[in-house]
Amino acid sequence: MAEKPRQIDEPEQEQESEKAPNVLESAFEDDREAHNAKEIFDLIQKSYLTRLNPEETRRQLLEHGRKEEDIDSALKLMACIGAVNRIAFGEGGVVLNFVPSKHKVRPDIIAMYNPEEKDCEEGYDVRVEGLNEKTLIRVKAKIPLIGKDGETVKNGPLVTLEEAYLGTSIHEARHRFQHQKGSRIFSYKDAHLVGKQLGKIISFVKHYLDIRREDMEKDGAAKETIDSEVNPGEFDAMVVEILAQNKLHEGVILEDFFNLVKIQPPELEK
Ligand SMILES: [Zn+2]
Repeated sequence: MAEKPRQIDEPEQEQESEKAPNVLESAFEDDREAHNAKEIFDLIQKSYLTRLNPEETRRQLLEHGRKEEDIDSALKLMACIGAVNRIAFGEGGVVLNFVPSKHKVRPDIIAMYNPEEKDCEEGYDVRVEGLNEKTLIRVKAKIPLIGKDGETVKNGPLVTLEEAYLGTSIHEARHRFQHQKGSRIFSYKDAHLVGKQLGKIISFVKHYLDIRREDMEKDGAAKETIDSEVNPGEFDAMVVEILAQNKLHEGVILEDFFNLVKIQPPELEK
């Protein structure tokens, strides 16, 4: 039962590259101005969306009974993931899967990175069912916005829709980075080694995931489910996602934004 309409990233055909000129790649190389999330999001939609064959994807997902609003969100999110992946890793070859249904074990999941395995090609999934509403919930989540001096500026429902889409994209691409040889990722012990802003974000994520684990244990969740949500890879990806949202909120130059996918903690002193 092949349920997944599958999109192959980076099709090699010439006419595809003409249709989707690399506005994005050329834009970020010599642009030194700070941009907010809306500007980066709009640039991505303009330059990357056509690669996803949106009309065919829409048709297939409608056939699966998905709602227009969820399909719109899926196309926007996948354009962001595809563009972030493309700029951060350069090469194509990963698959971008629009998965019509919710995740069976974790229905709140909106996107996933899948490393290459026996029966699975390397790529990203976007879960379409209920996506619009799940994205709006993320906008309302209390993501801390922390000043460069380490003081919490605001802690409220202040993340914009574009910040949510771009944050999720950085998060998923970060999971791909975690699978690359030699990548060093953030853990709680890095909190005192990094700048105050990042240190606070690391402390926040530890606190958030500690509570998440406790809540899931109280609810009697299976160990496997808890471990899939609270683990070192998820810790690191959340740190980088929240850092990205903070940078977008401050305004960030394109190159620095895409480089967040591969940010590493400082080397520990021996
Ligand atoms: Zn994750």
